[in-house]
Amino acid sequence: MSLTGLNRQQNASARHYLKQSISETAIQAALAMTAGYFDFPMVQLNVVDANFQHTIGSVGTALGTIRREDSLCDQVVREGKPQMLDDFRIIPKAACHIQSYIGVPITGREGLVIGALCLLDTVPRAFSQTQLHQLESVATVIQDQLELLRRLGAVTTGSAAEATELSRGIQLGQLTPLYQPIVDLKTGVVQSVEALARWDHPTRGMLPPSSFVPLAEDSEIIIEVDVAILAKAAVDVARWQRDIPGLRLNANLSARHFDHPDCVRRLSGAVLKAGLSPEFVTLEVTETAALAAHPADRSFLTDLRVRGFRVVLDDFGTGFSAIEQVLRLPVDGIKLDRAVTAALGSKVGDAVVRALVGLAADLRLQTVIEGVERPAQAARAIELGCTHGQGYLWAKPLNAQAMTAHLSPSRRSTS
Ligand code: C2E
Ligand code: CA
Ligand code: CA
Repeated sequence: MSLTGLNRQQNASARHYLKQSISETAIQAALAMTAGYFDFPMVQLNVVDANFQHTIGSVGTALGTIRREDSLCDQVVREGKPQMLDDFRIIPKAACHIQSYIGVPITGREGLVIGALCLLDTVPRAFSQTQLHQLESVATVIQDQLELLRRLGAVTTGSAAEATELSRGIQLGQLTPLYQPIVDLKTGVVQSVEALARWDHPTRGMLPPSSFVPLAEDSEIIIEVDVAILAKAAVDVARWQRDIPGLRLNANLSARHFDHPDCVRRLSGAVLKAGLSPEFVTLEVTETAALAAHPADRSFLTDLRVRGFRVVLDDFGTGFSAIEQVLRLPVDGIKLDRAVTAALGSKVGDAVVRALVGLAADLRLQTVIEGVERPAQAARAIELGCTHGQGYLWAKPLNAQAMTAHLSPSRRSTS
């Protein structure tokens, strides 16, 4: 993309704000307060550079990067003024379940708009001028905080010491997977297990991914996390396959792998070493990560599939990406995010699921619906054409021993 002088300056200014991480800072706390104050389920702080929108802080949505043309904040940044959208006009551009968007500009040190603070909801919402002014005031506070961080040059996701501790923990085998079943919705039979990383920390106990995955994703350490979890999980699944031939493994893959073509070799090496064939392994890449990758880097997905892996798009429906582009990616399936599942039962929620499942089926993509907690959601998902489900309704993430019991013949359906 060729940039005009002003756009080039805006791009350079915006990129200063991508060097720091804001998780666990006052900014993240301010975003949470903003969501509560305005009673919106989703808040995002987005930095928009020449080509991408980077969500650097959020409540109720994933962090990540999407193409600028798919960004709802694009117009706020281009025009430098607030935008309120509260009807279906935004749907072709945004994730189809977003129906309210209120965005206000965020200005950087150079005096140029570098991004936006926005509120999102899945239902149409009224928003008064007074509330808009209040949101603009919040944006100025967040602006000051960002400026402070930039001045400090702070990287606050974790200190170098924490990163070193995590690396050492990985070497010492402290990372371990929990497993959550993915079932055939109609029969309840377990088809696959998703490996979810935990850090069995020597003094702090069993830590969830939220306390170390963001730190790991700041660097190449995430690759070591993914490989360590895949390697351990492959051993367990190879063992379970003795009783349940065909049982599959789902594992999460960070976007960082895209930059390292030798990762494909490492990933398949880890699986084969455990005596498992990659054909039984599904790798989950988030929709936003897959789309943010440069088209040339997407051959990574094809390489994985050539090795026998299946690839699915995780957290589907949260990325605000253009559906048609996402569905062109070389993948085998989609996992509907639990935010989509939560909307089941409402007119719009059902329509979204029906449309996504229909599109996926036409393209011969498999659909897993995630975060299913209630029987009524499972029943509705079946009616709407989903074939596979995952969620607390069937099981919370279990350790290997508990999963062995869960998979034992006495519990397995014979259908
Ligand atoms: P994810 O891949 O979307 O995994 C699903 C998350 O939703 C898990 O959280 C799971 O415990 C939770 N969950 C499952 N069913 C339900 C439900 O019915 N209701 C609710 N409320 N939650 C449900 P968990 O284990 O905390 O993992 C969080 C995220 O951390 C994962 O989200 C994934 O993005 C990331 N992650 C986990 N393990 C790895 C890994 O090995 N590598 C990478 N790169 N990321 C990982
Ligand atoms: Ca996943
Ligand atoms: Ca997911």
